[in-house]
Amino acid sequence: MTDPADLARRARSVLPGGVNSPVRAFGSVGGAPIFAREASGAHLTTVSGQRLVDYVMSWGAVLLGHDHPTVRERVTSAVRQGLSFGVTGPREIELAERVCELVPSVEMIRFVSSGTEATMSAVRLARAATGRDLIVKIAGGYHGHGDSFLVSAGSGVATLGLPNSPGVPAELAKLTLTVAFNDVDEMHEVIAAHGERVAAVIVEPFLGNAGFIPPEPGYLETVRASTRTAGSLLVFDEVMTGFRVEAAGAQGALGVTPDLTTLGKVIGGGLPIGAYGGRRELMELVAPAGAVYQAGTLSGNPLAMAAGTAVLDEICTSDPYEFLAARSRQLTDGLRSAARSRGVPISVAYAGGMWGFFFHDGPVRNYEDASASDTELFARFHREALRQGVLLPPSPFEAGFISLAHTEDLVSETVDRLARALDLATAR
Ligand SMILES: *Cc1c(COP(=O)(O)O)cnc(C)c1O
Repeated sequence: MTDPADLARRARSVLPGGVNSPVRAFGSVGGAPIFAREASGAHLTTVSGQRLVDYVMSWGAVLLGHDHPTVRERVTSAVRQGLSFGVTGPREIELAERVCELVPSVEMIRFVSSGTEATMSAVRLARAATGRDLIVKIAGGYHGHGDSFLVSAGSGVATLGLPNSPGVPAELAKLTLTVAFNDVDEMHEVIAAHGERVAAVIVEPFLGNAGFIPPEPGYLETVRASTRTAGSLLVFDEVMTGFRVEAAGAQGALGVTPDLTTLGKVIGGGLPIGAYGGRRELMELVAPAGAVYQAGTLSGNPLAMAAGTAVLDEICTSDPYEFLAARSRQLTDGLRSAARSRGVPISVAYAGGMWGFFFHDGPVRNYEDASASDTELFARFHREALRQGVLLPPSPFEAGFISLAHTEDLVSETVDRLARALDLATAR
């Protein structure tokens, strides 16, 4: 029952690729995917009993650490009151009020059940609000698996998008334009050529799904100014960055305010959630206040609301972001010196509780740079790190995550283990 090879066989026969989300198959690092038994604090224990220091943290959803007592207690007491009501309850209002207080651009919010739903709905709202069809996204930016986002650019900035998954209609993909992150000129060109047809520019303020890539100073300010001039809406996809880089999100940390914001991951404390919000006059276009239809059977689920409110309460009482940033810095500094002293090219970055590295001399400014990193070394390093008891994100194009349970001692021990992993990964 708990033999990983047996689980892998059974999983592959009933789940496509043996998983419910592709990257969990460990396809880009090779090796066998792991099976979780349980997780506590900063550790995840596999079904075979290996205790791993977890730097995936449910893809960033878990900020306080696994099985945090406050979250556990609030969710447990919510469980006793019923799992879902199908009518509005006080917990939804409470979490909404909390988010509106904390996130500068959000005056009203709609809860959904995943980040994918949040971005799909935000784009629908932007199209309705502007009466325009085109959207602009960043190459390597991930906004969930909605049709409009599974698109890559054709050659040159003026060409329209092509689907990069079968099943996405070409006619729909044409409505999505793609530009390189941190490229001010390309953003200007696209807005100059298509601006009056662009409903929204959607961007992860810190790219977190192409590895971790921070915005260069002034980049998002430029995007903000050019969308405003064109009458297009700026959507910050903060599903990953929200409540992870700062309580006010990346928008608070960077001082750039979008028109619409999408949230997920941390605001659900590990339960399924998504949300989109923005200025009142925009959000009041959403049904039933307005005509833009969007609904959900389990939206505002009381367990997710209880978990999210517990996390935001902790954030507000303890201000964890200095601690998180210090641990991210400790880890990335340690990893960088380990690599440098071994002559391995590396480029590292972090913001709050998010971090990343590329085996690349740097600078890594966008997805194209990230793609030029040594992904084979990454795969070997990932496998050796796992043997040393460290779970890194199983892809060079994913960010790593720290929680409040990652103590200074644990991170310093991680750095030692990663240094050993690097020795093994680079040994001939
Ligand atoms: C995870 C993520 C999504 C998708 O959220 P799901 O809950 O997996 O649907 C969207 N945007 C960003 C930036 C994400 O990191």
